[in-house]
Amino acid sequence: MHEGGFPCRSGNGANEALSRKLKEFEPMAKIKKVECIRTRKGGVWTIVKVTTDQDGLYGIGSVSDMYNPEAVVQIVEQLLAPILIGKDPANIEDLWNTMSLSGYWRNGALLQTAIGGIDMALWDIKGKEAGLPVYMLLGGACRSAVPCYGHAGGNDIAELREDVHRFVEEGYTVVRCQLGGYGGGGFLKGPQAKLPDNAWTTDSVFDEHVYLNAIPRMFEQLRLTFGPEVQFTHDVHEHVSPIVAIQLAKRLEPYGLFYLEDALPPEQLGWYRQMRQQAATPQAVGELFSNPREWTELVSERLIDFIRVRVSKAGGISACRKIAALCEAFGVRTAWQEGGENDPVNQAAAVHLDMAIWNFGIQEINHFRPEEREAFPGAIERRGGYLYVNDRPGLGIDLDEAKAALLLGDDWSSKSYHQPYKLDRKADGTLVRP
Ligand code: MG
Repeated sequence: MHEGGFPCRSGNGANEALSRKLKEFEPMAKIKKVECIRTRKGGVWTIVKVTTDQDGLYGIGSVSDMYNPEAVVQIVEQLLAPILIGKDPANIEDLWNTMSLSGYWRNGALLQTAIGGIDMALWDIKGKEAGLPVYMLLGGACRSAVPCYGHAGGNDIAELREDVHRFVEEGYTVVRCQLGGYGGGGFLKGPQAKLPDNAWTTDSVFDEHVYLNAIPRMFEQLRLTFGPEVQFTHDVHEHVSPIVAIQLAKRLEPYGLFYLEDALPPEQLGWYRQMRQQAATPQAVGELFSNPREWTELVSERLIDFIRVRVSKAGGISACRKIAALCEAFGVRTAWQEGGENDPVNQAAAVHLDMAIWNFGIQEINHFRPEEREAFPGAIERRGGYLYVNDRPGLGIDLDEAKAALLLGDDWSSKSYHQPYKLDRKADGTLVRP
């Protein structure tokens, strides 16, 4: 039996309940309203709510963009809502394409985010109409729970070792290992930084060769402590030159990584061909991708091992189930991006895909405060190294709008939040591209 009084999928009683439920929703629901709801401290999270003309039938999706929140709200409410209102929410594929082509130019990150969140909301509605969780609509469960990895960090090896130990104790089998923030291990400060006398920064500066030596040393130490059983990943966050990325992948081979993440930036994807010829360290990339041209050849030429797009940024559940199918044909696995500023609705969409995709690899986790979870009843549960989806119809997650409003804080206004992405610099001042 599904939770919350929704019909279940088997048994006569269930069929009666299903029939009753279906009668509650007249055929041919129509989209009545498409609105954005900002939440979390400072309004970092943006949730799109698609309401239909059927009593109580609505869906939610994630359109969060930490750096351009107002622009995405404009796209959803000013450009896409007028296209959607009056349409049948059941025809997701047609609506997706209608939205994608509505501005002629397409596949941009912000448009894709707006479409991605609306797409999630439409799948949520479809699940509620059918009385089934979204993963059942996608083909059903391929696994009983979704393995996930934790983010271990420390400013030095001793701190990192302690943090990895904490995750292993909790039951994780895969742990991402970083020396502090992105590029950590490669930062120099004070006299070591050798700054010019007209330096642009007094912060630590990034040196890719220092980093190139630090990361293999880090994994050497971790393998000595944890042996071969624990699986490790590391996120380069595109901090190094392409040839240094290849050198790093080669030097990491002895430590048997689960994968090396974001070794190359979106502008240098062609270097994955050389990477493949040179190093057997598994490669994961994709969190900056929004255009199919960015992932198609990487997958079809078998240049990567894990695709890591963020579900909302790549165009939602509809786009990601196609990406997963493409990947399956070429032996590539999924590792949808989460973490950082992602919201609970994007996480729910990712985990429904994880349940239904045979070539699932691993799921990144997210951290929510108790009061944030209360604003999103039905949010994905984590126990040990696994994520668990509930069996409620749709995405199984709701938005308590009153509680969501309280998360914003007293000083919040819709225009108040704008935080440009923080960039690192080299000693001479050159920006490091993430
Ligand atoms: Mg990354």
